[in-house]
Amino acid sequence: MSNKGLLAVLSGFAGSGKGTIMKKLLEKYPEDYALSVSATTRHPRPGEEEGREYFFKTEEEFKEMICSGELLEYAGYVGHHYGTPRAYVEDQLSLGKNVILEIEIQGALQIKEKFPDTLLMFVTPPSAVELMNRLKGRGTETEEEIIARLSRAVEEADGCEAYDYLIINDDIDESVANVHRIIESEQLRMRRCLPEIEAIKNDLRTFLKEEEK
Ligand code: 5GP
Repeated sequence: MSNKGLLAVLSGFAGSGKGTIMKKLLEKYPEDYALSVSATTRHPRPGEEEGREYFFKTEEEFKEMICSGELLEYAGYVGHHYGTPRAYVEDQLSLGKNVILEIEIQGALQIKEKFPDTLLMFVTPPSAVELMNRLKGRGTETEEEIIARLSRAVEEADGCEAYDYLIINDDIDESVANVHRIIESEQLRMRRCLPEIEAIKNDLRTFLKEEEK
């Protein structure tokens, strides 16, 4: 297999469970994936740690990151900025790791434009009612934030045809298995395996020459 990692994006509505899918995927397959930690201007939620969930930045610091070209993509989401640090992603890909970005749709589309080979997956709960219940149930947002995130979900639903796969997150373990399967299959696409085919072709030519001697 080619030793260049695959760049994959997981997006989804707030409350879709994409964060949990990511966490479980990394727990289950720690050797296969590298998770990019984003920078954000939003405040940490209880239990979140600097450098683990996010690099928490001031608006000023975030602007500096944009100006110095440190971000691969960035976007605004419900009053705050979020962006993907470039260096980590590039380093991990060149080490042959599959890198997963858990980012919203605007950022995903920027990534796809820069790297057309990126695999885009979109996570949704099985229904709108379920989404509403999950958002309210997790208790990490105010009523106002919940409304803002729901209205953003309506916008995002319009853009999700640009994605390659839909993950309907009814059962978390099944969703984790689906994401892993999709990535594994994606790695076997013919266009990603051309170096392997080339190597076989070269070996075959060598054997043929030896046989003909
Ligand atoms: P939250 O505040 O719930 O952690 O994240 C809000 C949204 O921002 C989620 O949809 C999440 O996927 C997205 N997000 C997180 N990091 C990034 C990033 O680096 N870039 C972009 N474009 N979106 C991000």
